Amino acid sequence: MTARVKTIRCQECGKRFVPKRAGRGVVKEQICPYCSSRVARREGVSALKRSTWAVFSQWLKLSKSDHEGYCTCVTCGIRLPWDDRNMHAGHFLQSRSKGILFEPDGVNPQCHRCNVVLGGNKDEYWPWMLRNRGQETIDRLLALKWKSGQWTREELLAINSDYSARVADILSRI
Ligand SMILES: [Zn+2]
Ligand SMILES: [Zn+2]
Repeated sequence: MTARVKTIRCQECGKRFVPKRAGRGVVKEQICPYCSSRVARREGVSALKRSTWAVFSQWLKLSKSDHEGYCTCVTCGIRLPWDDRNMHAGHFLQSRSKGILFEPDGVNPQCHRCNVVLGGNKDEYWPWMLRNRGQETIDRLLALKWKSGQWTREELLAINSDYSARVADILSRI
């Protein structure tokens, strides 16, 4: 069996060609050898998931930040600027299943220390959820945890553009 060479399709002329490579990866900007137009490489599902998470977490923190652009960590109470260096969007449950990953009720602002160093600071997160979201939400999230499956590009693109618009909207008002 011979390995199949992966080709990409030019959106302009429709012809397929072998993409230029650099090192171990494929060069991002490709030029079609037939019509010389620039061909945008499609982001793969895992890259798309990462970029969608980046937008979602931005939205989450912005939507919960005060008028000075500060967020409060739900598990230790520290107040820091909403940017990625200071504040993270921390999942309540360990699960990153399809049902949980982009579920706003299960994600809240957490400082770097609580989210990373303390592994989510779960001992404090649970009582906070119970007080602020209630047992019903916790039960709903525990059930969503079992909703698994693979993401499709279309689903991720839809979430991505939805939250990108929300981020742009919030940023335009501050
Ligand atoms: Zn072309
Ligand atoms: Zn904290």
